[in-house]
Amino acid sequence: MQNNLKYKEVDTGSGAQQTGFIIMIIEKITSLALRCSDCGKLETHQLNIFQLSGEKKLDLGCECGHNKVEVQRVSQEIIIKPYCLACGRYHQLVLPEEQLWNSGDVQALVCPRTRLNLGYYGPFAQLQQEIDQQQRELELLTDGLGFDDFADPKVMLTALDILHDFAAQGELNCECGSHEVNIELLSEQIVLTCKLCAGVLSIPASSPNDINRLENFDSLLLQYRSNTSPTNPRT
Ligand SMILES: [Zn+2]
Ligand SMILES: [Zn+2]
Ligand SMILES: [Zn+2]
Repeated sequence: MQNNLKYKEVDTGSGAQQTGFIIMIIEKITSLALRCSDCGKLETHQLNIFQLSGEKKLDLGCECGHNKVEVQRVSQEIIIKPYCLACGRYHQLVLPEEQLWNSGDVQALVCPRTRLNLGYYGPFAQLQQEIDQQQRELELLTDGLGFDDFADPKVMLTALDILHDFAAQGELNCECGSHEVNIELLSEQIVLTCKLCAGVLSIPASSPNDINRLENFDSLLLQYRSNTSPTNPRT
């Protein structure tokens, strides 16, 4: 639709007034990146104001076929309903419309209860950059494992998000006193190891129950006393 408008503008050599009108419409565009609650893939969708005209509900689907999220524009507010794995239900997030179109930078959509990250919105190029970077970080943690090697990719990625939250709040530590923790993702669990001692903690991450359990901890502590490995220098 935008291409047609642009073409028309060039073709007819229309006046300044119409040019202004066209630019205004084109600016009402943003991108939304949400993780599929079924297969766990994080994909970016371009969004423009035409798709949200007349309060109609827009369903954004994942390439796996799952209907990922519903977006609706009602009286200058945008309603986004992503599924939250930690809460086991859909949240209704409401944004002022101008905030969506003019976010300036990448913004996170978060669970109102746990503050867990549910997705992002913002200008396409910046959003893509953010996602590419997350993807690279993820690859560093998986040591050759592919996305589909996880028992349940969405559980694994949500567990990783929760661990990042613990770390950001200073609640992911080793009993030696260090906060320097290595993270390794295996197919059914996340293994945390201390960079300074033999401290270790395994976090099961293969079912939604594991998410509920993890989410209910106040803090996580790596332990070296219970690490009975012969290579543990502390035993
Ligand atoms: Zn999917
Ligand atoms: Zn939630
Ligand atoms: Zn340690």
